[in-house]
Amino acid sequence: MNGYGNGLLRINLSDGKVTKEAIFDAMKRDFLGGRGFAIKILWDEVKNVDPLSEKNKIVFSIGPLSGQLLPSSGKMVIASKSPLTGGYGDGNIGTMASVYLKKAGYDAVVVEGKSGKPCYVLIEDETVQILDANDLWGKNSFEAQDLLEKKHGRNSGIVLIGPGGENEVPIATVMSQHGRAGGRPGMGAVMGAKNLKALVIKGTKNVSNFDDAKLRELGKKGYDEIKGKESYDFWMRQGTMQAFEWCNENACLPTHNFKEGVFEFAKELDGYVLERLHAGRKGCPMCNMQCGHLIKDASDREAELDYENIGMLGPNIGIKSLIQAGQLNRMADEWGLDTISLGSGIGFLMEASEKGLISEKINWGDFDAAQRLVGEIGRGEGLGKLVSRGVKVASETIGQGSEKWAMQIKGLEISAYNCHACPGMALSFGTSPIGASHKDAWIIAWEIANDRFSYNKAKVEKLIEFQRLRGGFFESATVCRLPWVEVGFGLDWYPEYLEAVTGEKKTWEDFHQIGDRIYNLIRAFWKRENPGFGRKWDYPPDRWFDDAQSRGKMKGMKIDRRKYDQMLSWYYELRGWDDNGIPRRDTLERSGLNEVAKAIG
Ligand code: SF4
Repeated sequence: MNGYGNGLLRINLSDGKVTKEAIFDAMKRDFLGGRGFAIKILWDEVKNVDPLSEKNKIVFSIGPLSGQLLPSSGKMVIASKSPLTGGYGDGNIGTMASVYLKKAGYDAVVVEGKSGKPCYVLIEDETVQILDANDLWGKNSFEAQDLLEKKHGRNSGIVLIGPGGENEVPIATVMSQHGRAGGRPGMGAVMGAKNLKALVIKGTKNVSNFDDAKLRELGKKGYDEIKGKESYDFWMRQGTMQAFEWCNENACLPTHNFKEGVFEFAKELDGYVLERLHAGRKGCPMCNMQCGHLIKDASDREAELDYENIGMLGPNIGIKSLIQAGQLNRMADEWGLDTISLGSGIGFLMEASEKGLISEKINWGDFDAAQRLVGEIGRGEGLGKLVSRGVKVASETIGQGSEKWAMQIKGLEISAYNCHACPGMALSFGTSPIGASHKDAWIIAWEIANDRFSYNKAKVEKLIEFQRLRGGFFESATVCRLPWVEVGFGLDWYPEYLEAVTGEKKTWEDFHQIGDRIYNLIRAFWKRENPGFGRKWDYPPDRWFDDAQSRGKMKGMKIDRRKYDQMLSWYYELRGWDDNGIPRRDTLERSGLNEVAKAIG
């Protein structure tokens, strides 16, 4: 099919074998690419394995739109069985590796086995080599990127891990290009467990699109439309950091481990402070609305900020300086640790200290302690070891009711939105297919603007609509959703882009069917890999149900458990899942997943 590469590259690090396999058109039609390819491969090939064993596999996949000359297309999905959650884990990353993988002629790379010593993989079109990485091992993600660029030239796409991944820390992520990150549920640890430091990808081939001239014309029009949007200028000034002030005003800023939704020092950390300190901008390839804003941290190094990392490494741990939060973020990027899980872990330790559940004294806002903890978490040592496997495991370790305020769902830490007064967003976290990620259905902006306090079925329908678009289409196409989300870039462009790329005319209904198939298969994967999986895995922690916010305009607010339960039941009904949240046989069969229905009984 036009617009795709020649299939899948399989690299076995145990025996060094490299094979090239076809991805048939039926798979492209059924799963589109990116996340769709990843879950199909993992469902077929990764069964009941330890995520950090050599039996696990890691998939780097792109979609038909990835790396093309159209808005914000420089994205790649990285997926595996997660060492943090034990279920399906993935994340997208903005990287030139996406562009060069397309030019090298592949749609996915599957890495399996385990190298006997540190290695990296160099892909140059048809040639694939597994190379020694002894000189890279131990280097942080910035140093390793520089060394690899020096060796292989800047005309290469690199995805790599920092020491956190090497140490198999389950909150380790995958990094690229000095600060791009992806794969929150421990994808960095999976690479580390394989002794795999990096993939370096170089590609020189033309992409076989159906109508290149049309695609160029549509791509240019798309870029122009984005630039002409009313909100474009403000976006270019603050990027996702514009959400900081908005969250504080709406009392959903994560503060002191999600106890509160407002932070008294918010004005020291918001997008206007960023504007004053602004030292540059970075972002993903093919993007004309780049959102990685740089400031200089306390050591005069560049720190790349976005809302999620400043929310979690600022108010969530009581840090009241943007420069300090930026420094923690820079450290996390160097170690290759997920900033959301990191901020949640440090917040968990601060609260445990406040409650006297651990002997160490760590106060809210203690910057020195936070810096020390980043290193300890990255090494999996000392007090940091307690949260390096995530706050779920930490709460199981220290007990004493701490699971009520271990801010995670399915083992993945909740990202930077306090939901005491946002039941739809709480359900969005609860039903995200990788654990508590905001990416699949960021319904909070719609919810606050339209219907904040209700628990009705229409809200659940809206949530599924967002999941179909964000988690189904954008993750599989595979392109960034932010042009649509943040500046209102029209959704109508995407079927046109797909048609110019593949030659096939598709409707949104077609894409939603693909999205539903992907969600059903991911849900089945969770069930197969975790026999006890079910409804209780879809609830946020007790804090949001039981401990009302004590200040701000949402003072006294908490989620009504009975009404949340009703929304969850509607969600299952609308998805065609049973009351325990498992896809029904007829639902799986409608998605063409008959074999899956048999496998999960
Ligand atoms: S909007 Fe931001 S995340 Fe999306 S492609 Fe551009 S730089 Fe990357």
